[in-house]
Amino acid sequence: MPSETVFRSASFWIDGDVAHFDTAAQQCAAAFNAGILARTERRSNDSMKDMQAAAPDISYEVIAQLLRRKVQPSYKAMLTNRKQGKPAGIPRAGRAYPIIIRDRCWSLDGDALTFSLQIFGTHSRLYGSRRQLSLSPFDPDYDTRILQSATIPPKVAEIAYSKRKQKWFIRFVTEQRCAPRMNTGIVAGIDLGFRRHIAVVSVPGIRKCLFLRWSDIRHRDRNDHARRKQLQKAGKKRAVRTRQDKTARYRKDYISKQVAAIVAFCAEHGVDTMRLEDLSGIRERAADWGRDMKRELNSWPFAQFQAHLADKLREYGIHTQLVNPRHTSQRCSVCGHVERSNRNGGDFRCKQCGYQNNADLNAANNIAVADATAEWDGREFTAIDSIAEAA
Ligand SMILES: [Zn+2]
Repeated sequence: MPSETVFRSASFWIDGDVAHFDTAAQQCAAAFNAGILARTERRSNDSMKDMQAAAPDISYEVIAQLLRRKVQPSYKAMLTNRKQGKPAGIPRAGRAYPIIIRDRCWSLDGDALTFSLQIFGTHSRLYGSRRQLSLSPFDPDYDTRILQSATIPPKVAEIAYSKRKQKWFIRFVTEQRCAPRMNTGIVAGIDLGFRRHIAVVSVPGIRKCLFLRWSDIRHRDRNDHARRKQLQKAGKKRAVRTRQDKTARYRKDYISKQVAAIVAFCAEHGVDTMRLEDLSGIRERAADWGRDMKRELNSWPFAQFQAHLADKLREYGIHTQLVNPRHTSQRCSVCGHVERSNRNGGDFRCKQCGYQNNADLNAANNIAVADATAEWDGREFTAIDSIAEAA
């Protein structure tokens, strides 16, 4: 069986003569638009063929990449909106659309990038000459490491323009071989919350735990919300958007750091399976919460957090499973007694055996021993039943 891989991306600012990128970006946008238009008009499932017909010289991998990352989500969003009776035009790429480039046209030597852009058919060859550009990483620690540690050299990259920095950048898509699946029998449970902790991880078998507290992010979220309302009232649309972008970046960075801490903890303690609650129904369960609480819940991307975590863990050979969230917070992790009043805010005290502990830690212990219902297959959580059937 071939070893599993995960995709990572490493981003670098481009320095040097970049005048020709603008035309190339327009061409890529045209291919995108042709592909999505063909798909929408014909209602065919085969937009791959449509796009290839529109831009015959783009390689298969690049089309697949475009399709997966750009066309499919925009197309799906459009269909969903139409189904709900909302107005939805055909999504179109603007001139800032990323230029997708394939491996044969670039070479990388240290921070020097040499390439010729020959993205489209020979009749419209854009740039035959090889140019040398120098690259500087977005984050010297992260991006350089990702690129250098790629076990399979990057085959696809995209060049895009950052309006904010007014600079072009390149993002390499690298492939990393996953560590072989761990087989230690050590199972961890994670309780994700948004009242007291962002996450509590427990490894009951070896009595280890990790508490990740909400730091300044919630404070920042509240301030942001208030400030955005002010700006909205004042009709400053642009300022609202800038603020939203900033918050989104901050949040993404914050999530990455939390996930990294969890992965490091699991690797250190030899965890081979991580279990977390299936929170697909959390928004319905939150029906009786206050308005502020619900706003926070809606702005907190649980599903993305779970997927991001599962993806990172996989790189270390650690598997992720979902469990049924029923009773995880009311059940005593020592004697199994279930009673609503066992839990009182942040404290847990079992009405039957008297066991006392932090309520989130008790929940994490329960999650670690619960039956799994779904497993992460590298892209999404798949029901365990269907995995068993396929095997
Ligand atoms: Zn008990």
